[in-house]
Amino acid sequence: MDIERLRADTPACAEILHFNNAGASLVPDPVHHAVLEHLELERRVGGYEAAARANQRLEHLYDTAAALLNCRPTEIAFVENATRAWDMAFYAIPFRAGDRILTAQAEYASNYLAFLQMAKRHNVVIDVVPNDDDGQLSVNALAEMMDDRVKLIAITHAPTQGGLINPAAEVGRVARRHGTLFLLDACQSVGQMPIDVTEIGCDMLSATGRKYLRGPRGTGLLYVRQDLITKLEPPFIDLHAADWIGLNSFEIRADARRFETWESYVAGRLGLAAAIDYARNLGLPNIRARVDHIAGLLRTRLAELPGITVHDLGIDKSGIVTFTSDQETSLSIHQRMRRRGINISVSPTNYARLDLTRRGLPDLVRASVHYFNTESEVDRFCRCLTAA
Ligand SMILES: *Cc1c(COP(=O)(O)O)cnc(C)c1O
Repeated sequence: MDIERLRADTPACAEILHFNNAGASLVPDPVHHAVLEHLELERRVGGYEAAARANQRLEHLYDTAAALLNCRPTEIAFVENATRAWDMAFYAIPFRAGDRILTAQAEYASNYLAFLQMAKRHNVVIDVVPNDDDGQLSVNALAEMMDDRVKLIAITHAPTQGGLINPAAEVGRVARRHGTLFLLDACQSVGQMPIDVTEIGCDMLSATGRKYLRGPRGTGLLYVRQDLITKLEPPFIDLHAADWIGLNSFEIRADARRFETWESYVAGRLGLAAAIDYARNLGLPNIRARVDHIAGLLRTRLAELPGITVHDLGIDKSGIVTFTSDQETSLSIHQRMRRRGINISVSPTNYARLDLTRRGLPDLVRASVHYFNTESEVDRFCRCLTAA
């Protein structure tokens, strides 16, 4: 990887130190230009007319997303964010009283809120699979918890609040063995590491554009396995998702676009396609190796600093590095760094009650690195952290 060239593609690298890639990464110039050029075209010729001219590139989004995830273009839906992608799949599942949902301790807050809502509405039971000694979801415990009442296994691959990577493919094998639906929140892992839905064995997967894919904000993707699509009725439909074939009848599309709506952020679609192309050109294994290197270096350095404790769980870790200081609150560190042009974020406990509260942790500082970050940025970050 030519890091200098990649940084030149991202002009903000010269101005700021961006360790907030799990919040929103910096878009590279080809993505920025794809969005801007389309907005300019809309300004000149009109929105519908601009979309018609961009038709081929709009279709390309499905092809490149399918290549990214190793699925078919008809298994991809474009939506406005990962939450809505996940929701469209989750709320399409016909839950009945007594059905069980198995999830993990690291589950994303919004997903858990949806479980709670479904528990209230339909009396489904939420069971949280415990972690193993490494802090990953225990696949053995999951296997033991399986029974006929489990309707869904829904887990987060790489959580927002730590460096953990859950063993998604092993979970997939348990799901396949029992013929149980498996919904994977891959919001932090898509764009950061190779993701192959066939290898993982998930039925549904949600992803966002703005994080490790480096796409525009307001973009997201849903994957649904082909033979499941027609069995999952979207929680809401429109004239794009369905055909009004007779006065009192309709027919829902047979591809994953049944989970979309007609109107969408067209410039964002083009930007997301450009972002996926950009990531695929670099190669996901290369991205993964580089992120692993920079994040590993950051964890090592942080662990050497007095008063700093790193909190990331798991064996293989993501680019998300979380820590606390015994001298300063996480919020104070966040604000102090921002004044120095260093972007990080805070993972508050109420965003991860199952995880952080159970581990007795306070709000965490989250520094999330990407391949365009450098060793010298890690040095500068650690120097600023200690120079309070
Ligand atoms: C950010 C995040 C989401 C939500 O993604 P949006 O695009 O903001 O809807 C879901 N799950 C995880 C693990 C996340 O980190």
